[in-house]
Formats: sequence, C-alpha cells, structure tokens
Amino acid sequence: MLPYGRQSIDASDVAAVVAALGSDWLTTGPRVRQFEADIEAVAGAPAVTVTNGTTALHAAYAAAGVGSGDEVITTPMTFVATASTAAMLGARVVFADVEDETANLDPAAVEALVTGSTRAVTAVDYAGHPAEYDALRKVTEPAGAVLIGDAAHAIGSTVDGRPVGTLADLTTFSFFPTKNLTTAEGGAVASTRPDLLERARTFRSVGMVKDPARLRRPDEGGWFYEVHEFGLNYRLPDVLCALGSSQLLRLADFKARRQHLTARYDELLADVPGLRLPVQRAGVDPMRHLYPVRVLDGRRREVYERMHAAGIGVQVNYIPVYWHPVFEDLGYRRGMCPVAETFYAEELSLPIFHDLTDADQDRVVETLRGILGS
Ligand SMILES: *Cc1c(COP(=O)(O)O)cnc(C)c1O
Repeated sequence: MLPYGRQSIDASDVAAVVAALGSDWLTTGPRVRQFEADIEAVAGAPAVTVTNGTTALHAAYAAAGVGSGDEVITTPMTFVATASTAAMLGARVVFADVEDETANLDPAAVEALVTGSTRAVTAVDYAGHPAEYDALRKVTEPAGAVLIGDAAHAIGSTVDGRPVGTLADLTTFSFFPTKNLTTAEGGAVASTRPDLLERARTFRSVGMVKDPARLRRPDEGGWFYEVHEFGLNYRLPDVLCALGSSQLLRLADFKARRQHLTARYDELLADVPGLRLPVQRAGVDPMRHLYPVRVLDGRRREVYERMHAAGIGVQVNYIPVYWHPVFEDLGYRRGMCPVAETFYAEELSLPIFHDLTDADQDRVVETLRGILGS
C-alpha cells in the first residue's frame, strides 16, 4: 500500500543516531540543546523539545495558564489533540468554524465567540498553509488571550518571509513520521515570549526549578531544586534529538520535494471534473504537509474505497473534533461548524512525502482520473 505520508531516513540520519547511542548521553545531553537551537534557526523563535506534538500542545496550554473556568477557542478541522489537551487542563473548548478556502480557523468566527473567559485561541496551519495569524491577533490582543499556533504540519512554512514560529505567541510542532521531518516520536514548543517558553520548559521537566535566581530558598546546596507548579516528564531524549538535527539539515530538500509534488498535482489534476484542488494565498511559502483535494458530488467515500482497493492509502484529515463521543457526551452537536463539516465530507489527502517518486504520483493521478471518469 502506498501511504499518504511517511518518513525519509538516509545514511546521514542513521549515522547521527548511532553517534548519539555511543556517547555519554542518552537523554538530556548536548544534542537536546543543539536540536533546540536548530529548531530556532528555522522557526525564528527559541524552542523547547518535548516527546510529541500532543505533549507540545499540553505544555503550550500549561504555559498559557489554561485551567478550569477558562475557554479555549480552536478549529474542529484538526487532530483531536489540539482540543483534548486544553480540555484535560479543565478548559471549556469552543469550536469556531473554518474558512472554506484553506480550512484554517476563520478570524471572524473567532471574534464572534471571544468572551472575558477566553484564555487562548489556537489555530492550526492545515496542510502546512499558515493560518491568518495577523487577523487572529487583532482579536486575541484586546481580549488578553494567548495566540497559539498548532504547526504540526507547518515547520518551514513562511508568510511574507516570516517563519511559522514567529506568527503566534506559542507555536507547537510534531515530529511524527508522517510529518515534514521526524524524530520517531517528538515535538517542540517555540515562543516569541521568554516567560511563556520558560513555563513550557519547566512543565516538560516535571516542574523542577534549579536556576538560583528563581529558587525560593537559594542557599540550600548544589543538589537543591524546587517545584513551584506541577509538571510532567515530557523530555525528548538525546538520541532522538540527534535524529532531529540531522533531519533539519535536510529540511530545504524536503520542502523543495513537497513543493515539486504539489506543483505536479496542481497541473496534472487541474482539469479533472468533480475535484477541487488546494489553494495557496499570496505571500505564503508553504511546507506542504498534505495535498488535500475535495471530492465533490458526494463521491468521497467511493473514491477513498476505490483508491485503497488500488493500493493507494489516501487519508481523510480530519473528522470534525467535536464529533468524537468524548465531546458529544459533553453536549457538542453536529452542525455546529458547517463549513468544517462540508470540508470534512469532501476531503481526501493524496500521497505526498519526500520519497514519493514522480512515477508513483503518476499512478495516483491516473487511478483518480479513472475513478472520476476523465
Ligand atoms: C500530528 C498532529 C498533532 C499531534 O502530534 P503527535 O506528535 O502525533 O502527538 C497535533 N495536531 C496536529 C494538527 C497534528 O497533525
């Protein structure tokens, strides 16, 4: 089965991991700080590594001070973790609808839902296309809310030359194998605000504070540390950070290949009836994580099944988050975000990843053409 996404591991990646395994450090050694510095070079803001994209969101919400009594506004067109990690901290999640064109959070929909209890607004850079952060900031700033970007799809994307990582107050990344680069499991939180980043860093290290300047009792001794707020162990090991730094050296290649495949799909599918292709807004230079087409005329399920029967592992991204029973049981109802639900009903992600050959891509296109009858 041809997957919709997969990792690309080459000899340089293997060598980096082997070197880490033979070093003095398996976890929390020099490769963690190196990978964090390497992420900063791409994201434009200092970063803290964590164990995955889900724990990155958990740490970002903790850093934003999200707790019970707070509301967090986010998109339903995302992986469940964008919302569930806020709910687990006690917040009420409020779903705002998306824009038809990009499937990204609609700033006008967010504006209509902001209240005095809104602690954070979390956008998702769907498929690698950055959300409308400048418009969202005009809503979050007067409300005193933290603007969060779930950039699990979008490391390496830019808007008017500004990298994803600098567009929101806190930005989270995932390094799962299907994403733009991988550390097996892994993730990171970047922030343009040192106070928020420090809080995320402390949260991912069980809340342990060692900096003498921050200790309540700094004279106890060299072994001493304090816990001021509860945290979890979300540390990403040195061995995996070695893989991450090696993968980041290949990021420009990854981006070029994904853009090449995107341009080919755009061209080869342009005249296929019953299909809508993804768009790219002016000023956006995306790292294309997904190639999401829309299958019209109620044929999405049929196309999904016939592509799978032909050995092509197309995917659906995403089930509207509030459809999950855990939200349904809290009173969320279908129909709440109609633009997102229509998008969901039509969406199909075609294979796109670094090692996808042009020949494999041609087979995807021919199979899809055959099904849609052109
Ligand atoms: C993958 C993903 C996550 C979660 O990342 P993991 O590393 O799998 O935990 C969160 N949000 C979005 C949008 C994602 O695509």
